[in-house]
Amino acid sequence: MVVQVEAEGICRTDWHVWNGDWDWVGLTPTLPLVMGHELGGTVVAVGQGVSRVAEGDRVTAPFHESCGQCGYCLIGRSNLCDNMEFLGLTHDGGYATYAAIRNADFNCIKLPDSIDTLSAAAIGCRYMTAFHAVTRQGGLTAGQWVAVHGAGGIGLSAVQIAAALGGRVIAVDLADSKLEKAKAEGALFAVNAGFEEDVPAAVKQITGGGADLAIGGIGVAALVESAVLSLRKGGRLVQVGLTSQAEQGYVGIPLDHVIEAEIEIVGSVGNPHADYPRLLGLVETGVLQPARIVGQTLPLDQASAVLDAMDSYETLGFSVITQF
Ligand SMILES: [Zn+2]
Ligand SMILES: [Zn+2]
Repeated sequence: MVVQVEAEGICRTDWHVWNGDWDWVGLTPTLPLVMGHELGGTVVAVGQGVSRVAEGDRVTAPFHESCGQCGYCLIGRSNLCDNMEFLGLTHDGGYATYAAIRNADFNCIKLPDSIDTLSAAAIGCRYMTAFHAVTRQGGLTAGQWVAVHGAGGIGLSAVQIAAALGGRVIAVDLADSKLEKAKAEGALFAVNAGFEEDVPAAVKQITGGGADLAIGGIGVAALVESAVLSLRKGGRLVQVGLTSQAEQGYVGIPLDHVIEAEIEIVGSVGNPHADYPRLLGLVETGVLQPARIVGQTLPLDQASAVLDAMDSYETLGFSVITQF
């Protein structure tokens, strides 16, 4: 199935691919490659055997294109599919006028009329990833303290989602501009890890003992350690951000503390297809507003400049390509 791309997000995953990261987990793209896995657009052609999607449908797709038939897909955990393809990584993605979606009947998510294309692009990766992290993997209950470590695209999404669903949110980052944005998205408190020598102590003071839930938005070693130490006893870290060249997949964990405080550390990747109706429903009713995280829209030929700015974490919110 071919979609005419109308909006395409520039995700830190693209930056990782751009840097040649992740050969340590076996994800090495074959070049040349058109990156891009956060798209929204309109179907312009369908292949043989596709029956659920038709020309003219407005769609998005999760970055993890799943088979719909393996054991994980059958139990509703399609984000763990055994036969997964990655849009913009294992085949060409959405930094283009047109993009092909594999196994379209399963992987195309039809958009309700009220959800615009910009929101659709946001939903393709970071926002839905944050949704899965906060709701399914994090098991957030209203009233819980949620510390979001790293206020990039996923972190800001997690702040908005957790706050909208009743969490009491603390945002932790190095940049005041991102912390201000986090507050605008519902964070009650902001901790600047650059000025605050002891982030866990600051979070424990705010919460009276530590956060119930931590969301690890970036895979930086110091951040992961700090996230674990900021939890209250019995707390849970949901780690979403993958590591970079500095860590190459490995970070230190304060293990004795994990044991003695019965801390849970849980991974989170993507969002299973079965949870999209829940997510789209909350967007339709305005409880969740992914488009609000969009910091800038730009033409395709400026994408490289955005990726360069990600070297020093300079981007604010989602950068979305809207001119091709
Ligand atoms: Zn599968
Ligand atoms: Zn992404």
